[in-house]
Amino acid sequence: MKMKAAVLYELNKPLVVEEVDIEHPKDGEVLVKLAASGVCHSDLSAITGVLKKPLPVILGHEGAGVVAEVGPGVKNVKVGDHVVISWIASCGQCAYCIEGKPRLCPSAAKVRAEGTLPDGTKRLSINGQTISHSGGVSSFAEYCVVAESSAIPIRKDAPLDKAALVGCAVLTGVGTALNGAKVQPGSTVAVIGAGGVGLNVIQGSQLAGAEKIIAVDLADSKLEMAKFFGATHTVNSGKVDPVQAIKGLTGGLGVDYVIEVIGLPQTVGLAFDSIKKGGSVTLIGMPDASVTWNMPILEMIRKEAIVQGSYYGNAVERVDIPKYMDLYMAGKLKLDELISKFYTLDEINTVFKDMEKGEIARGMIIL
Ligand SMILES: [Zn+2]
Ligand SMILES: [Zn+2]
Repeated sequence: MKMKAAVLYELNKPLVVEEVDIEHPKDGEVLVKLAASGVCHSDLSAITGVLKKPLPVILGHEGAGVVAEVGPGVKNVKVGDHVVISWIASCGQCAYCIEGKPRLCPSAAKVRAEGTLPDGTKRLSINGQTISHSGGVSSFAEYCVVAESSAIPIRKDAPLDKAALVGCAVLTGVGTALNGAKVQPGSTVAVIGAGGVGLNVIQGSQLAGAEKIIAVDLADSKLEMAKFFGATHTVNSGKVDPVQAIKGLTGGLGVDYVIEVIGLPQTVGLAFDSIKKGGSVTLIGMPDASVTWNMPILEMIRKEAIVQGSYYGNAVERVDIPKYMDLYMAGKLKLDELISKFYTLDEINTVFKDMEKGEIARGMIIL
């Protein structure tokens, strides 16, 4: 079948919007007619080469749509179901999947690294040349073929152009606050980085009942958004010393939880310095694989500090995605306001330009 899609052929070059071939779903796979796809910072990192993908590739991993066809053996979704796409094509069989940690599934990691679907092959091509999938998704396209485990059914009364956000930014951000950091009622939180994911950490912390939520960023426009999403205080780290500011807001102690959404050694250091004794730092900002941070061992011990990573919001998608949709429909989770601007697929390169200029938090492509 032919469809329109945006293909990345070379790093740091514009995507090419053109007709490509997509095959029918095979065993355990699902064809989804996409309604919308968010543009995530990780897509930009794939274009610049910070995140490695086998080229050519169709990027996009934050999609939602309607199931158009199911392959043999598919049990959990049917034609006509509305789905949010997860970029964890988990196997359902391994120890991690059975433990309820599908995001750590080695088979899903292989899918992401090799740009295939779980059977090791690709469903995308142009003039006979295969094109890689991105995270087993590839949502900068009219259709995608995904593993059954990536197609998460949601309620049909939820708008798909908002639901798409739940597949990456919301699941990661809200999930990190609730499941990763495990923010408790009455606690204090600082969030370093108030972009698309950071805003979701902030609204997740608010859902968890945090008493103080301090947003830290370099851009005043992002800090304004942070207030709207539940930050009780903001710190512009370009204007004041953020560690002093955070301590000043917490009686000199520091906060119970810092969630670091940038992924730089300096911001991880700032996160560590900003927790109180017994507090935790949760890392979710993704740097290049070569980036490291020197851990102050003695201080770590004396502070009883916890430094941990959180991946994909520690989510179990089949549980958490429908739950977040319910929270949105009940008015308890903000999705509409996360979207700075809507675009068409033909405007895909403009989205990345707008992102690089810092003009938008989240661009949404309507397909
Ligand atoms: Zn993403
Ligand atoms: Zn598995």
